[in-house]
Amino acid sequence: MTGTSLLDLTLAEVQRVLRADGLAVAHASTLWRACYHESILTTEARASVDPGAFPPPLRRWWETATGPGGKYHWTQPTLCGEQVSTDGLTRKYLLGLEDGREIETVIMGYPGRFTGCVSTQVGCAMGCVFCATGQGGFTRHLRPGEIVAQVWHLQRRLRATGAPGLRNLVLMGMGEPLHNYDAVRTALEIISDTGGLNIGPRRITISTVGVVPGILRLAEEPQPYNLAVSLHAATQEERARLVPVAARWPLDELMAACRDYCRRTGRRIFFEWTLIAGRNDSPAHAQQVAELLQGVPAHVNLIPLNPTAGYAGSATAQGSAAAFQAILRAAGLPSTLRQRRGIDVAAGCGQLAGATRRGSEAERTVSVEAEHGNRN
Ligand code: SAH
Ligand code: SF4
Repeated sequence: MTGTSLLDLTLAEVQRVLRADGLAVAHASTLWRACYHESILTTEARASVDPGAFPPPLRRWWETATGPGGKYHWTQPTLCGEQVSTDGLTRKYLLGLEDGREIETVIMGYPGRFTGCVSTQVGCAMGCVFCATGQGGFTRHLRPGEIVAQVWHLQRRLRATGAPGLRNLVLMGMGEPLHNYDAVRTALEIISDTGGLNIGPRRITISTVGVVPGILRLAEEPQPYNLAVSLHAATQEERARLVPVAARWPLDELMAACRDYCRRTGRRIFFEWTLIAGRNDSPAHAQQVAELLQGVPAHVNLIPLNPTAGYAGSATAQGSAAAFQAILRAAGLPSTLRQRRGIDVAAGCGQLAGATRRGSEAERTVSVEAEHGNRN
């Protein structure tokens, strides 16, 4: 494959490309529509952009620019595996990238709506001890188009079943979004474009382990993306044991950045708390969270641990989780206790890719579709 992926380009960049090649800027919207609307509705295994309906100048440009040896290409990742939870609500896809690396992307179904969960890196450098992605280490950043392609893929899957498209998008798959800031920012500009995939910034949540410079930068962005901060512990000492990067961005700096973010944006922050039995799930821990988040516009998401091969901890029992939540409630702190979605298909972050690396995907994968070399 030669040249630049068109999936890496924002609409403004596509306009610049066409203008530089002597075309009217208006053709960019036609191309954009073909890439992000019509291609999603195609039914064949190999998705493609159909230039048949393009005005002649755009069709000629397309044939030269994306033909053999051309400057651009429009290539989607290969679908390498799919898992569906037994309740049918969680669908997890393993996508193969051009260099053979694999990433996970997930659809979570809720009554009347779907949420997509996408990866931002191959692996992760942050090393959280309970996370399958962290246990596997960092391989590389995703390019913007590799993040965009995940959303494109999920929309196509949903449309194929007659479902409405994604309502919400969370950057909670493999990787640390704020460690790949520029690519994530470009990808979200493409994903939220109203003429394209059209998932509005208010429906998008960026989840971070606590990369302080990234939080401060995000506070300056004009788009109102939601921010989730993975907290897991309310003291520096306990947090550093679960989240090694807490040594680099200590809890007090993180909380100062969060306060700053709320002040500057006027938005609340979602705090993620993975409940691990005997580690961070006692009534005393709940009290600490309430104290730490006092005065911060916050919503806490409590997520019972998904077991992973590299970590011996287990999930908090339901009764203790409810008791934890009751303490937050009594302190006036809103929270949601998340179900362990798709746990029967090992749907925790990074776990499908981990299973493939261990060579056991055959028994876990319920359907694999050959979609090799989607190329145009
Ligand atoms: N790197 C970002 C986003 C990806 S992880 C972050 O850490 O926020 C998305 C969420 O999944 C985080 O809140 C993370 O703590 C949580 N997570 C990771 N592994 C988990 C596991 N085994 N069980 C439950 N939650 C997990
Ligand atoms: Fe990376 Fe998030 Fe996993 Fe931590 S929890 S290792 S930051 S993906």
